[in-house]
Amino acid sequence: MIKDQSFASLGAHHSRARFFGQEQGQLAASPVLLELVNVSHSYGKIDALKGINLQIRGSEFIFLTGASGAGKSTLLNIISGELRPTFGNIVNGRENLFVTQVFQDLKLIENVSVLDNLRMANDPTIYRSDREFMNVLIEMGKVFGVYDAFNRRINSLNGGLKQKVAIMRALLPGPNLLVADEPTSSLDFESAKKLFDVLTYYNSKRTVSIVWASHNRELVRKFSGKMIHLEKGLLVHSGHACFI
Ligand code: ADP
Ligand code: MG
Repeated sequence: MIKDQSFASLGAHHSRARFFGQEQGQLAASPVLLELVNVSHSYGKIDALKGINLQIRGSEFIFLTGASGAGKSTLLNIISGELRPTFGNIVNGRENLFVTQVFQDLKLIENVSVLDNLRMANDPTIYRSDREFMNVLIEMGKVFGVYDAFNRRINSLNGGLKQKVAIMRALLPGPNLLVADEPTSSLDFESAKKLFDVLTYYNSKRTVSIVWASHNRELVRKFSGKMIHLEKGLLVHSGHACFI
């Protein structure tokens, strides 16, 4: 049964925001982008999330950990607006909050090129011309180490490259918040660390907030941001990773 009555604010959840250039100078304030208040989610009799309270701030990088089945994907889907919780409130901290998502199965189009997959992220409300979009795309491709693979089909790439393409596709439309479901699952530690460094760069340069679900405990230990931990649907820890 849907018990929630407070979704009036969700109308703007998926709408697009102006992105480049607008958010300079907001780092210090770190306003709340999105707040989950007592959010629960059930799939029939399975209580996947129980009374989650969480604030996501501007330019914050949050690591989400928890065993398989703890509720990570459900939480990410609720944050991105993909899923409506069965109980609780979601409060948008800003108008036109735009969230993009990297899914665990990536959802890339396998039999077309990297470039064609990435072109789908072109948004005319953000890029004034194809040329401007291509300039950003090429720069990002070089930063991610994907540029040399632009003309290859997705189904010819290894898992690590595919994940990078999926992350680029989620960054290109200029989200305020990006949620990623185990984006380093097919990477070894060194590659995962590199990808993480690249994301950190975009996190600070573009002030995009990131929620990153990960099993990779080694990576989490090296991480100096906020960490939240789920256990059987409960948020049991929220704090700075360096204290764990
Ligand atoms: P995680 O991503 O941490 O592995 P999930 O959010 O996928 O956890 O799942 C949390 C719980 O909800 C698990 O018990 C899982 O089996 C259950 N679950 C997830 N998705 C569905 C679904 N579509 N239908 C029924 N149960 C689901
Ligand atoms: Mg999952």
